[in-house]
Amino acid sequence: MLRITYRPLSRCQVAAEECSTTTQARVEAARAVPNRLSKKRTVLSMRIMSLSTDYFRLPLPPSEDGGHGAIDTEELVFVNVHTDLADGFGYAYTIGKGGRAIRSLIDHEIADAVIGLDFASPEDAWRHVWRRMLYIGRGGLTSFAIAALDMALWDAYAKADGVPLYRAIGAQSKELPTYGSGVDLQKSTEDLLEQIDGYKARGLRGVKMKVGRPTLSEDIERVAAVRDHLGTAVDLMVDANMAWDRDEALEAARQLEPFELRWLEEPLTPEDIEGHAHLRRETSTPLSVGESFHSPAEFHAYARAGGSDVFQVDPVTNGGVTVAIEALRAANAAGIDASSHYADELNAHILCLAERPVFLEKHAFALDAYLEDPQEIVDGFVRPSERPGHGIAFLAEAVEPFRAD
Ligand SMILES: [Mg+2]
Repeated sequence: MLRITYRPLSRCQVAAEECSTTTQARVEAARAVPNRLSKKRTVLSMRIMSLSTDYFRLPLPPSEDGGHGAIDTEELVFVNVHTDLADGFGYAYTIGKGGRAIRSLIDHEIADAVIGLDFASPEDAWRHVWRRMLYIGRGGLTSFAIAALDMALWDAYAKADGVPLYRAIGAQSKELPTYGSGVDLQKSTEDLLEQIDGYKARGLRGVKMKVGRPTLSEDIERVAAVRDHLGTAVDLMVDANMAWDRDEALEAARQLEPFELRWLEEPLTPEDIEGHAHLRRETSTPLSVGESFHSPAEFHAYARAGGSDVFQVDPVTNGGVTVAIEALRAANAAGIDASSHYADELNAHILCLAERPVFLEKHAFALDAYLEDPQEIVDGFVRPSERPGHGIAFLAEAVEPFRAD
């Protein structure tokens, strides 16, 4: 398969030449050393020599949800990192807004902070970049930009050791149950049920649907129709995408109790930690959060406050593989279940760290058509790739028509 040829930034190439002289000596000097995550790590440290970015705008079927409004485009920002020991690839995605700013942050701010950087682990590099970007960072688009770099560094780090990502983060391969989800708030009940039949036909083990219609009675009718259609043997989740205030969320959670949901996702905005904790005390419907968190601090705050039953990690929106790992450590320590949001192939590695990985999300906006080796579902379960690194490679012929500036 054809792979994309990337264009390194000119100033990065200059830096690469300056950095390359000691490469062979450092490879030869590499020896087994204790490492926080990988017990058999053989590489002492790596140096970032250059990086380059690419930007694409992929069309999506027009849709909308309760909190984000209309969605018709997925943006992808690619980062290719060249280190002295291995190359790495990372990406950030958006639901149509912010991609150009993310790319600009990487090209014009982050690159200068990392070219020539020696790092013993991607976690060390993440801390370095996070601090360098602190004044304009700690969340938002900066977290997406750091995430793309962090993903590429984890890829290079695992490749340098010749192991799949799940091993580089200190996990064992696990079989992870999957559930199907899509942006279906605007669909008729008939179309919604048809979509759900599609998940079942693929063997997925659970189903998620959107809530947040103009009236709660509409939501309840739709959830009732789906529960009737599924029966009680299939896990059902609902996602409000932050559409409600506290009173609306409490009323909804109570009316949803009879449907025995596996979780109610993002009932409130992520800033309202106490609102989530209060809601959790007042209803038997489990809550999930995480896809809109852009820092490790948010996961820790929710764990401390008792604001969630399930953490959904997303290595892009959260600020990197490093942050998703931190979130799962917090979940494990607090007895919180773990699931994932989007980034299916990457999350298959990351969720292997979870003590209670209840589900991996298979989203309708799947990138399968653009990938060299899409994730395979076997009897409703997935496993992480066994390739060195994260194993994600995009097909040039699939994404090139959507390249943008
Ligand atoms: Mg969601």
